[in-house]
Amino acid sequence: MTKMFSRILIANRGEIACRVIRTAQRMGIGTVAVYSDADAHALHVAMADDAVYIGPSPVTDSYLRADHIIDAALKSGAEAIHPGYGFLSENPGFVDAVVKTGLVFIGPSADSIRAMGLKDAAKRLMEKAGVPVVPGYHGEAQELVVLASKAREIGYPVLIKARAGGGGKGMRKVDNPDDFAEALGSARREAKSAFGDDRVLVEKYIAKPRHIEVQVFGDNHGNVVHLYERDCSLQRRHQKVIEEAPAPGITAEVRSAMTSAAVKAAQAINYSGAGTIEFIVDATEGLKPDRFWFMEMNTRLQVEHPVTEMITGLDLVEWQLRVAAGEKLPLSQKQIPLDGHAIEARLYAEDPAKSFLPAIGTLHHLSFPNALQDGEVRVETGVRAGDTISPYYDPMIAKLVVHGADRPSALAAMESALSQTEIAGTTTNAPFLSALIRHQGFAAGDVDTGLIDRDLAGLIVPVATPKGAKELAILSASGLLKRPAHGDPWTALRGYSHHNGLAYPVMLEEAGQIVRYGVSVLGDERYAISGSDAVVELRVLHEPQGWHLTGKGMNLRAKTVAIPHGVAIVANGMATTFSIADPFLLAEQAGNAGDRLTAPMPGLVKAVRVAAGDLVKKGQILLVLEAMKMEHSITAPHDGKVAEIVSENSQVKENSALVRFEEAPADTTKN
Ligand code: ADP
Repeated sequence: MTKMFSRILIANRGEIACRVIRTAQRMGIGTVAVYSDADAHALHVAMADDAVYIGPSPVTDSYLRADHIIDAALKSGAEAIHPGYGFLSENPGFVDAVVKTGLVFIGPSADSIRAMGLKDAAKRLMEKAGVPVVPGYHGEAQELVVLASKAREIGYPVLIKARAGGGGKGMRKVDNPDDFAEALGSARREAKSAFGDDRVLVEKYIAKPRHIEVQVFGDNHGNVVHLYERDCSLQRRHQKVIEEAPAPGITAEVRSAMTSAAVKAAQAINYSGAGTIEFIVDATEGLKPDRFWFMEMNTRLQVEHPVTEMITGLDLVEWQLRVAAGEKLPLSQKQIPLDGHAIEARLYAEDPAKSFLPAIGTLHHLSFPNALQDGEVRVETGVRAGDTISPYYDPMIAKLVVHGADRPSALAAMESALSQTEIAGTTTNAPFLSALIRHQGFAAGDVDTGLIDRDLAGLIVPVATPKGAKELAILSASGLLKRPAHGDPWTALRGYSHHNGLAYPVMLEEAGQIVRYGVSVLGDERYAISGSDAVVELRVLHEPQGWHLTGKGMNLRAKTVAIPHGVAIVANGMATTFSIADPFLLAEQAGNAGDRLTAPMPGLVKAVRVAAGDLVKKGQILLVLEAMKMEHSITAPHDGKVAEIVSENSQVKENSALVRFEEAPADTTKN
């Protein structure tokens, strides 16, 4: 008889930490969270029974500190560590260290992780186990002549891959033999600097590839089962965006071939716990039982595991805990159900129009659907309204997971789920996800890993500001927009009789300019906004869901959300924010402008190019700020003399001063 843990530590953050905590709580298991400075008030910390501080915000100082995490587990009385995904989840050295202290690692053995760690060794092992691998060369020889002749044998185009690779690094597609030497050199250099290992393998390049993976589960009693497949072909920069199960168009024959290959792969390394076998599939002629090949194994729980949970009705974290505690797999292969269709979309704080650059910001408003009319929805998130998406971690806001009786109903459910998701305070990929869901090829199930890149232009639709949004923002900022107070005519008509003829001033910042408006009350629920050129008359009714604004050419149902220095108008799941200028603040800023330069976002000062006392010219680079994994040059807004400047390697907050000039030139208050 095995004994379930009474307390576990979760060595992770964000949505996956919250996800693991929820299952543990349901099973009556105590939970310990770990956190960095940036996460002191994070949701996962609030949810856990206990929380231990493990270091400063950068991951190398906290979530990657195996020693701090193991210490935290020992001190807090945890018996086991759940690694989540990412961070230390596939680090065999960490597993060894955990096990050495007598704690249980909720995951596979260090040996299993090592066996799958290098692509070439993993491919050799899989080949021996009878699992189809991508045709190619994954031997020891690394000389140019050998690799080039292997590439010719394989047939162009080929793909050079770093054996230690990950995240698409050290990968080069080569279309003809003349380019091979050059591509090899550059793949090697990239692999060397990213992984400290420049050994490569050469693979056949698959023409219309689909990424289909199989969820497997093993226990410590020699049992291995699969929980069907997931299709993760919708990718951008080799990162999954939308995942679904089952794979569109898969037949019983192909499923049986893929799942039995996956089980064989897991058995070959005595796998225990949750794992995923990733296959690359040649879809030029649909799915065929002899057109899929092993690509790699992820020896942990995947981000997209909820789609499998939705079609099987199982809790994979519960399975992980049971297996780690020594129990047998809860179900046999035959008992694992497959019901309906599930889709997951990853909602990120990022800007698809700026090549998916991560965004940061405070989530002033955050609201997810908790039920749908046309399907089931599940939201996996690690943030709440008021939380900040910081530059330190993955900018994921949530995973939206839906389930329907079949694929069309799941697609419809996802469309409603997205339109009922409201976020204000940061740029998100929600409009991009909605466009993807409506993409004709995707809707037809005709997917491949190149789909997003090919149709990017059509998927990045500029979001138009809904008609009436600005007017609603102005009315909201005027303070005159009030819910009708029942039976009290004086409150209902606030601003009416007493201020007859008076217009309330509202100043909006539009494209860097301050624009003045005047708002007056015309009567019950009726207002007029006077701008520079015209007067607009509007009617605004209060409804249970928000406001309903009508006027010439305007018919808008929206919510208003106050944000610092502004207001967000939320309609159909899209938020448009307006900055409201405060006349007092404006006066203060005018006195300061030109005098100092502030950080546009939090970051690290990578390089300082000038010193106090230097005379600088307008446009000259003063310093380089690294934020969101990108470098930004901060230039002088005008000629002047530097009085003070931040030092190199300092970490700066948003809006904190970077440079102060000795005297503010008289004409820099307006620009
Ligand atoms: P990494 O570990 O760097 O993420 P993978 O081997 O997992 O690399 O491959 C990442 C992605 O690259 C796959 O999802 C697929 O889109 C593409 N890819 C990998 N191998 C091939 C191949 N042989 N032919 C075509 N595309 C490939």
